[in-house]
Amino acid sequence: MSGILDGKKILVMGVANNRSIAWGCAQAMAKQGAEVIYTYQNERLKKFISKLVTDEDRLIECDVSSDDSLEAAFGEVAKRFGKIDGIVHAIAFAKKEELGGSILNSTRDGFSQALDVSAYSLLAVAKEGVKILNNPSSIVTLTYMGSDRALPNYNTMGIAKAALESAMRYLARDLGEKGIRVNAISAGAMRTLAVSGIKGHADLLKISQSETVDGVNVTKEEVGNTCAFLMSDLATGLTGDVIFVDKGVHLR
Ligand code: NAD
Repeated sequence: MSGILDGKKILVMGVANNRSIAWGCAQAMAKQGAEVIYTYQNERLKKFISKLVTDEDRLIECDVSSDDSLEAAFGEVAKRFGKIDGIVHAIAFAKKEELGGSILNSTRDGFSQALDVSAYSLLAVAKEGVKILNNPSSIVTLTYMGSDRALPNYNTMGIAKAALESAMRYLARDLGEKGIRVNAISAGAMRTLAVSGIKGHADLLKISQSETVDGVNVTKEEVGNTCAFLMSDLATGLTGDVIFVDKGVHLR
């Protein structure tokens, strides 16, 4: 059976476990014929991804808060797989204290760390990525509508997502001439490891579900299918955009 990603090699960054949005993306892209390569954050998380991906060759460590780790990881991708056709950046982090109550709880250190890991990392990944991305190719990042709305408890992460979306647009402009497209998927809320750090996340998920157009939450498979489309040559006209895959929650 032929798929829209036949012959494409895609690097997926951000699978922590089988609930991860990145895992939904990886599975949808594999279904469309892509060869998927994965990075994991550290040895502790390797245990979980190893249960999902048994081919050790496809697993490469990468901590995006370290330039050395990024350089080593992309060097390793090049050594094992040569050039690639896409990167999924599904990475974010903020300390619990940054994700509850008033935005005045934010600290200089907590803010810097959240912005570094959740927004600057897209630029850092792109810097390494341009060395091994084909023409044409595609970079997709994951964002949330807390970027342009002041939602309860999302706080510093909302500011980080605003920076991430802006970084995505600047990258789209600068990488266009190399044939690299850059877009963001704004996903609806779903239960993952990252979400469990947000104060009152159970309410966030409930409210989000009630605000979908049909009362049914979006799934990581649906987000994954959009990611597969954005990685494919069907999407060569699309760059610098935020695409909502949230069952219409952003319409409210
Ligand atoms: P997740 O916890 O499964 O994934 C987050 C990933 O970030 C993990 O794999 C973690 O290892 C990685 N990460 C954190 N710090 C890192 C570092 N220093 N180096 C390398 N990797 C690091 O949760 P998720 O919800 O699937 O998150 C994926 C992306 O989707 C995030 O950007 C998140 O903000 C975004 N998003 C999530 C939702 C949601 O409701 N779950 C909605 C919209 C957007």
